Amino acid sequence: MSQFDVVIIGAGPAGAIASALLNKKGYRVCVLEKQVFPRFVIGESLLPHCMEFIEEAGMLEAIKAGISDGFQFKNGAAFSWGNRYTTIDFTDKFSPGPGTTFQVTRARFDHILISEAQKQGVEVRFEHSVESIEFNRQAAVLSVSDPQDKAYQIEAQFVLDASGYGRVLAKLLNLEYPSSLPERMAYFTHIDDNVTDPTFDRNKILICTHPVLRDVWIWFIPFSNNRTSVGVVGQPECLNNYGCEGAKAILKKFVSEVPMLKRILSNAQWDNEVPFRTLRNYSANVKSLYGEHFALLGNASEFLDPVFSSGVTIAMHSAKLAADVLHRQFSGEAVNWQQEYADKLQVGINAFKTYVNGWYSTKFQDVIYAEHNNPEIRRMISSILAGYAWDENNPFVTNSERRLDVLAEICGPAKSC
Ligand code: FAD
Repeated sequence: MSQFDVVIIGAGPAGAIASALLNKKGYRVCVLEKQVFPRFVIGESLLPHCMEFIEEAGMLEAIKAGISDGFQFKNGAAFSWGNRYTTIDFTDKFSPGPGTTFQVTRARFDHILISEAQKQGVEVRFEHSVESIEFNRQAAVLSVSDPQDKAYQIEAQFVLDASGYGRVLAKLLNLEYPSSLPERMAYFTHIDDNVTDPTFDRNKILICTHPVLRDVWIWFIPFSNNRTSVGVVGQPECLNNYGCEGAKAILKKFVSEVPMLKRILSNAQWDNEVPFRTLRNYSANVKSLYGEHFALLGNASEFLDPVFSSGVTIAMHSAKLAADVLHRQFSGEAVNWQQEYADKLQVGINAFKTYVNGWYSTKFQDVIYAEHNNPEIRRMISSILAGYAWDENNPFVTNSERRLDVLAEICGPAKSC
């Protein structure tokens, strides 16, 4: 049976970053990935905070070179509702740290990250699926299925579950816990946008509130090669009972009802080769983020909602926190996973949760679409939307709910237009 210090389940952003950081500290790390890379996954708009982890993992230059693969420079977020249009500039923010990032096709992005980890010395086994786990006093023993469907075992001092929507350990160890967020779903695809409108800012994600249904929103995530990821999010009973059937018809109908998208997409090519995809019931939670020989990272733990593109950033932040605690544990220090991992990770997740809930209750939309905002407050909000949701110097992180309530009351309800 092969033995490693750390086995990581899943080669997405959480797994790739954790593997590289632990490998740099000198540990023997093996990543087991069920699929062949490159593989499709949704989640294409990054936040600037995640560039810090990419840099620490030694992968920044490789990601920057991805511009030639269609990666799009990103410096903020734009919001559109009816005739309203407002932008948040991530370079004008409260917290220190990078203010720019990229929008990426995840197949390419994830492949670059894990290939860089491999080059640095991480052992990566593609098409190896983790099927079960047992623990003895000293280690975890994983049962794995190889590409020929042959079962084998592998032993690790510690297991990091970065299996994303696979939620491998949550399922095997009965850790699943329902999300507090209601069920939502998304229909999405990639198009040739052919946008020529000179006022359109390609350097920002565009988030559009539906003109009438304020809990329905459409993402528009441009890449640098004339391609764009476009998707609609809402509750299933709303999206699926809107007078049209099938992913393509539903997505096109909602897009056609957003004035700004209708204007800029007049020459768009909705090609038939690219599948129209759907995902539902993606919000999830767990009872615990760790156990004696394991911890859960990224989407394998809690996933909130796509609206502020926080998924990859939370995944990488969790990877960094867990790698640090594990290094100290392996070095013989007494560590407290609850305080040093779970509680710390929760700070940012809770802050994001406030603004996600506020988006759907429309409180946060009232703030975003308000005609005048105090510039200092706007910088604090910009920080959170840029991913710095763990900066406890920012009062909109530490007292997020109370601050948002007060601010929404000052702004008043945004007028429909
Ligand atoms: P993943 O990227 O899902 O990687 C997990 C890996 O584990 C996969 O490669 C999988 O094959 C592997 N795996 C699964 N089971 C096993 C097994 N048994 N054995 C071995 N390997 C296994 N996030 C953003 O940051 N920006 C966005 O714009 C954004 N948009 C989104 C839109 C929608 C509609 C949704 C639902 C999510 C969006 N997200 C976005 C979230 C983003 O998709 C995830 O948060 C992110 O991919 C999490 O990364 P991860 O490394 O935890 O998991």
